Amino acid sequence: MKIFFDCDYTILGLDDTLRPGTLEIFQRLKDDSHEVFLWSGMGERWEVVEKHKLEKFLSGVYAKPTNHFHEKLAELKVPFEPDFVIDDYPEIVAAFGGVWVPPYFFKRASDQEMERVYRIVSDFAASGTSPDKQYRAKGTVLPLF
Ligand SMILES: [Mg+2]
Repeated sequence: MKIFFDCDYTILGLDDTLRPGTLEIFQRLKDDSHEVFLWSGMGERWEVVEKHKLEKFLSGVYAKPTNHFHEKLAELKVPFEPDFVIDDYPEIVAAFGGVWVPPYFFKRASDQEMERVYRIVSDFAASGTSPDKQYRAKGTVLPLF
């Protein structure tokens, strides 16, 4: 699958640290024959790729639409639709399908979210769904409140 990770508060904290387990999940997903992409509503985050030495894990770095998600892919030069997205912003996860993660702000050794993301990706790859409540099917309608 083409798996797109958001940058800020998904893999990157306010303090510029990587969420625990990020490098490990990137490597495991690659080993499982997935392609891993990084995208951000702030544009192509090459400075993050460079600082945290992510290049060897990534198949592409893109700008992320922040609304009209499907319609804006072409405008932002994203060459294909993501198969699965990981994001702290629920709307984009509901649009493409994937995992909503609680925002990551500061380095905390106890943060286990990437382990959970890997389990959900594996569930989805095997069966097309996941029982985890942080999984969102593509096209999920969010409650209006
Ligand atoms: Mg974010």
